[in-house]
Amino acid sequence: MEPTQIAAAVGARRKLAEELFDTLRAETFDGVGITRASYGPGEQFAHETLRRRAAELGLETSTDAAGNSYMTLPGRHRAAKPTLIGSHLDSVAQGGNFDGAAGVIAGVTALAALADTGWQPEADVTVMGIRAEESAWFGVSYIGSRAALGVLPEGALDEARRADTRRTLADHMAECGADPDALRNSPPHLDPQHLAAYLELHIEQGPVLEERAIPVGIVTGIRGNLRVPAARCIGEYSHCGGVPRAHRRDAAIAVAELVMSLDRIWDECEARDQDFAFTVGKMATDAGRHAMTIIAGQVDFSIDMRSLDIGFLDEMEARVQAIAMEIAAKRRVRFDLGRFTRAAPGLLDERIKARLREGTKALDIPAIDIPSGASHDAAAFAAAGVPTAMIFVRNANGSHNPDEAMEIDDFMRGVELLAWYLASPT
Ligand SMILES: [Zn+2]
Repeated sequence: MEPTQIAAAVGARRKLAEELFDTLRAETFDGVGITRASYGPGEQFAHETLRRRAAELGLETSTDAAGNSYMTLPGRHRAAKPTLIGSHLDSVAQGGNFDGAAGVIAGVTALAALADTGWQPEADVTVMGIRAEESAWFGVSYIGSRAALGVLPEGALDEARRADTRRTLADHMAECGADPDALRNSPPHLDPQHLAAYLELHIEQGPVLEERAIPVGIVTGIRGNLRVPAARCIGEYSHCGGVPRAHRRDAAIAVAELVMSLDRIWDECEARDQDFAFTVGKMATDAGRHAMTIIAGQVDFSIDMRSLDIGFLDEMEARVQAIAMEIAAKRRVRFDLGRFTRAAPGLLDERIKARLREGTKALDIPAIDIPSGASHDAAAFAAAGVPTAMIFVRNANGSHNPDEAMEIDDFMRGVELLAWYLASPT
């Protein structure tokens, strides 16, 4: 299909995209931002809405044992390897409307536009609405995609508990009509060997495209992560005036020392161009026991470490443990780091990236290459060996907040690129 015909067909479906964004926003606005908890009512509404609308558009719809949604435009050869276009439909608490949902709406809009022209793909093209990508809820990332691929971490179903309800993942899944027992006992829904490609459109969560006034980015790679979701340092509560320094078991200063050790590692990484970032997003003394004049007997904290280099993340697990042991001995405290969770970096497919760059030229879309610092389901597909690529759409004010601001014009350019990829012969 000619690029101009693709652009026109996509442009004619702008209302569909706007309507879907508006419907999700209206139902899942929480008074401050958007809340679509993983396996919660907002996410459930988003899945049901997308599947219903896709069915009205003539797409085949289904779900899997993890509750992911599939919306398929059938190809001429049903047995041929399908192409997946996916993203997640959950959000963080008080988040924005575009993070995640944009990728699913983009897929449905692209398929609707292409179907309008009478186009039929050679193999199936399936839009996947993915469950539970945001690790804020269960402390585990990419739950829906990893469950579909059969690589959900051991024990996650029964051990991961949602931050707000403290109920297990299996429990929440069952409540949403998913089937955790089938996940335990049946072969995975998706066979990575039988997927032609996985493409994900997502808003950029950093300021690069906005600063450079470019609507679309072709993602070069996705950082993996190593996380310590629920660590604790245990010292001893005692009066700050009465206890000499040598007798203190100060959990606050011990955690501070651990954090500063990681910051020095970050300095070293920068000096030798090693990709790395870490964040201590949670650090808290016990509000029930802390006081200005009491030495902290307990500090709870989290660590999120990211890198494009999986070997370096492996190394960091041992280093964090060694640093914690050393500080514990020196400061007479105890660290209980708890469970480490990890997600492998996503290496994106060079051939698809090259095709997408070609597409931006054919459609006259200003675009640049850009790495992804944030995690995405695409990383799970890439780690499983599926040829994977991502398209970023310009977005102001970051994400995971109510102020994320993607222009629908930019979004539609991203949809054009997706549609071009599907409908242009290689
Ligand atoms: Zn996202």
